[in-house]
Amino acid sequence: KEHLSDRINAMATSATLAMAAKARELRGAGKDIIGLSLGEPDFNIPDFIKEAAKEAVDQNYSSYSPVDGYQDLKAAISRKFKRDNKLDYGLDQIVVSTGAKQSLANVAMVMLNKGDEVILPAPFWVSYSDIVKLAEGVPVEVPTSIETDFKMTPEQLRKAITPKTKMLWFSSPCNPSGSVYSQEELEGLVEVLKEHPNIYVVSDEIYEHINFRGGHVSIAAIDGMYDRTVTVNGVSKAYAMTGWRIGFIGAPAWIAKACTKFQGQITSGANAIGQRATIAALDAPLEKIAFMIEKFHQRRDLILGLLGEIPGFRLNVPEGAFYVFPDISDYFGKTIKGTTIANASDFALFLLEEANVATVTGEAFGNPNCIRISYAASEDEIKEAVARIKKALS
Ligand code: PLP
Repeated sequence: KEHLSDRINAMATSATLAMAAKARELRGAGKDIIGLSLGEPDFNIPDFIKEAAKEAVDQNYSSYSPVDGYQDLKAAISRKFKRDNKLDYGLDQIVVSTGAKQSLANVAMVMLNKGDEVILPAPFWVSYSDIVKLAEGVPVEVPTSIETDFKMTPEQLRKAITPKTKMLWFSSPCNPSGSVYSQEELEGLVEVLKEHPNIYVVSDEIYEHINFRGGHVSIAAIDGMYDRTVTVNGVSKAYAMTGWRIGFIGAPAWIAKACTKFQGQITSGANAIGQRATIAALDAPLEKIAFMIEKFHQRRDLILGLLGEIPGFRLNVPEGAFYVFPDISDYFGKTIKGTTIANASDFALFLLEEANVATVTGEAFGNPNCIRISYAASEDEIKEAVARIKKALS
């Protein structure tokens, strides 16, 4: 370890991936673990997308693609932004990457200088803070709580801004809280941002379609924000294409150009077959994926109802994504079956060991009072998992 760089030594291991690895290990040892820790739809990729990929193989899409993605894919992304987000992004404003994760990393690397502050309303997606730190930025966490549905208020934003603030990063629908910012809530934040024209926004909209209240709003579409927002999206979640690794941004052309330059030295163009399949995914009417959203909606209602029966679980009503983020701080300081629960990590570990259910500690998402439970699992698994949790805690 002493021969490794300070950069990697300072980096946290992705807590969600670490939990998945631990669950795998216990499974290997013969334990029947229910995994509710990963942010991954349990559906198969819809057939029409698979067909497009097979055709791409047969058509020999086997060479390097342009660094920023195939032109016709970028045209499909441009149509998608117009159809779903009322956003006009030209092809020079779009960059296709190896998952939205790489899109985010590109943006951090091209926008941040050492010491630049990035406001992260907490809870935030695990990787934000480590990506920002890798780019020598300084994550500034703004804690929110269940009382405001885990959303940052304009007042909180105003207080967090300093002369060093360079960016604000957030996801809506939010991983891990499932919270969805309304038009009015975003306008409230924009009012504050208008006083600070040098702050850029990363709007991570990867859960856009997994939204049970409808009416997704892109902050870039709000007056004054287009020229200072990077809109991040991808096909991992709504199209169940996590492993195909395609994400993208719509951004001011100078930011897109910089991301392409950066990506050109790191990975080049994203997976060619995945890109071809993404054209089919984005061009299809949204009805084609509606069945998955409906299922997630039913499962949300199921898990909320079941968890609501367990004492000490305080829940918001997540309106999107596929996670619940209960505040379980009532358990802190208690001893159950000989194990003292001091914090959310202890709680998640207790659930893994006593209930054989894998969840993730909220600490990884910047909220030490909660745990994240993914309900991208079958109804039977959800029922069994919650029954086990209830039993372990009783
Ligand atoms: N942003 C958020 C909020 C996510 O939850 C995830 C995946 O978990 C990503 C980005 C990354 O998605 P991708 O699979 O496209 O890299």
